[in-house]
Amino acid sequence: MEAKYHRVLIKMSGEALAGPLNKGIDFGFVEKLCKAVKRCLDLGVQVAIVCGGGNYWRGAQDGGDRMVRTRADYMGMLAITMNCLALLDGLEKQGVEARIQSALGTDKLAEPINRDRAVRHLEKGRVVLFAGGTGEPYFTTDTGAVLRALEVDADVLLLGKNVDAIYSADPKKDPNAKRFSAITYREILEKDLKAMDAAATQLAMDNKLKLHVFGLKDPENILRAVSGEPIGTVVR
Ligand code: UDP
Repeated sequence: MEAKYHRVLIKMSGEALAGPLNKGIDFGFVEKLCKAVKRCLDLGVQVAIVCGGGNYWRGAQDGGDRMVRTRADYMGMLAITMNCLALLDGLEKQGVEARIQSALGTDKLAEPINRDRAVRHLEKGRVVLFAGGTGEPYFTTDTGAVLRALEVDADVLLLGKNVDAIYSADPKKDPNAKRFSAITYREILEKDLKAMDAAATQLAMDNKLKLHVFGLKDPENILRAVSGEPIGTVVR
């Protein structure tokens, strides 16, 4: 297997870390994810990771109108940080060196976000886990993932999701949903497709970031995406 990319940023949703449990961390699944990441490094690929926090808390959904939205969103950013600690632990168990850089001030757990330092870690073969999303409320981890992918000049944003590709409608609800193997950002925005939220999509489009969406239920898909196999949907 040969790598198609030199440097990738992988976005994993919080839900993905929960595996079939739906809440919290499925350690067996995290182990599989970390093994797949290790194999990417073995191919010579530099790997940065952004993960979500939805397995613990989503600001608008779980806090809703019961608390100040900004506070609910900070709870989400803390959830992301918890996931990064679990991933750090999982990666170290595979013998992979990793560092967390966080957009939230959590200096006992993580370095602050520093683009140049992150690039140096990547060049040394360390995985960089970007925690805290964008560090701002009212944003999502998808936007954080696009932002960090641009910052570290990743060749591609690998978006691991619960569905295996981008569809014209929810394939669970609509049996006629069309599956796209390739699509443009403009089409995603015009058709209002559920790939990433609109802010993340716009930022990626404006900066011509290549995006590859695929299912993360099989962690081996990370390797398939890294080696350019035609799985999921490629967005340009
Ligand atoms: N969040 C935020 N700003 C960010 C990223 C995340 O406020 O830049 C909060 C927000 O409340 C969000 C929660 O963190 O609902 C968890 O992130 P997200 O929903 O993106 O996680 P995922 O769905 O990818 O697991």
